[in-house]
Amino acid sequence: MLIERIWSGNSYRNFHYLIASAESGEALAIDPLEWRLCLDRARERGWQITQIVNTHEHRDHTGGNAGLVKATGAKLLAHAAAAARIGGVDRGLAKGDVIRIGRDAELECLDTPGHTLAHVCLFAHAAQPALFCGDTLFNAGAGNCHNGGDPARLYDTFSMQLSQLPDTTRIYPGHEYLARNLEFTLDREPDNAAAGARLQATRTLQPADMPVMTLGEEKLCNTFLRLGSATLIERLRADFPQLSTRPEPREVFLRLRELRNRW
Ligand SMILES: [Zn+2]
Ligand SMILES: [Zn+2]
Repeated sequence: MLIERIWSGNSYRNFHYLIASAESGEALAIDPLEWRLCLDRARERGWQITQIVNTHEHRDHTGGNAGLVKATGAKLLAHAAAAARIGGVDRGLAKGDVIRIGRDAELECLDTPGHTLAHVCLFAHAAQPALFCGDTLFNAGAGNCHNGGDPARLYDTFSMQLSQLPDTTRIYPGHEYLARNLEFTLDREPDNAAAGARLQATRTLQPADMPVMTLGEEKLCNTFLRLGSATLIERLRADFPQLSTRPEPREVFLRLRELRNRW
């Protein structure tokens, strides 16, 4: 299975992805808003885009569908519950569905509500597993819930699904927000050395060159995966005095999400 990450260069800071069969050159595009960039990259690699997946229904993920379908004839796949809002969906996806790309690449659909209520993440079982997580999990951050989402459902998705994947899983989010998110981590956990070092290392990088992080690395610097951190809880109690000294992880997550909304 081959993976290409494409930096959009747009103000939404989208990352697009192509996943291809090494054997046949068939490729799948994830959330190809800047679809011409995806088409150009596929051509450079000698690949044919035969499928498109939208992780969810927001326009910054679906806006390239029509152009790319017209140019390639690719089939459009999306969460079954988002299909009506997206339009033109050929295959509605549900938890556990498998998407095949040629004979040697496949992705498993995870049903991951929170950012919206009809959001899929795609998991590739491989020697080095990969997760394409749209606006659910970002590098060092979590998706917002402003446009049709639910923070409690997002917590469930994080705690019961995403954090349970192998620590070696490479994380491929829908947007590039790493430095900004690390600043939030350091605001909450000023003693987080891993986050400090990573922020330092990203200062000079262009968005296209940002590191691909593993889930294990996320657990070191993503506050939404560090709900038991003593520093984090202590500082959170300064903002929310009613919080107990040993709060439930769910409560920590929800308070963090609330703080991040206005940070
Ligand atoms: Zn979104
Ligand atoms: Zn988005």
